[in-house]
Amino acid sequence: MKKTAIFPGSFDPITKGHESIVLRALDLFDEIVIAIGVNERKTSFFPLEKRKAWIEDVFRSKPNVSVITYEGLTVDLCRKLEVNFILRGLRTSADFEFERSIGQMNKKMLPGIETVFLLTTPEYTALNSYIVRDIIRHGGDASPFIPDAVTL
Ligand code: ADP
Repeated sequence: MKKTAIFPGSFDPITKGHESIVLRALDLFDEIVIAIGVNERKTSFFPLEKRKAWIEDVFRSKPNVSVITYEGLTVDLCRKLEVNFILRGLRTSADFEFERSIGQMNKKMLPGIETVFLLTTPEYTALNSYIVRDIIRHGGDASPFIPDAVTL
């Protein structure tokens, strides 16, 4: 059976850390669906369409990576798409605590789901979208931290 994973997040914007997780996970899964969560109560820095287009650019050469947007619970998306795996990246112990509760709650809501964590590679441990947004907001050069295919 084909193994598909959903990689949920806000990707505001996609960073080299996200790119690395997806590329490495392609050794584990046949297909990866990058799912940009839309939360009406949270305002994003970059518009949804831009975030989606950037991710499409990054994985243009990978036909088994797709990008969608979704509202609501990730487990409901998994049910709808009939996907059994959620992919997440782990950088720090703070990530672990955060992910543990989400992963365990998701498992309670949808017992068939497994969350698969990949440890970040050391060079991307300090990298997050928040810092990248801050660099951009203050006119700094964020290009070392975002995938080469992304032109801001
Ligand atoms: P969230 O919206 O939950 O903060 P993000 O959109 O920033 O999540 O990221 C989605 C996923 O990518 C999360 O699992 C997060 O841990 C992972 N991730 C983000 N940055 C990195 C990185 N530098 N290295 C590895 N994983 C990362």
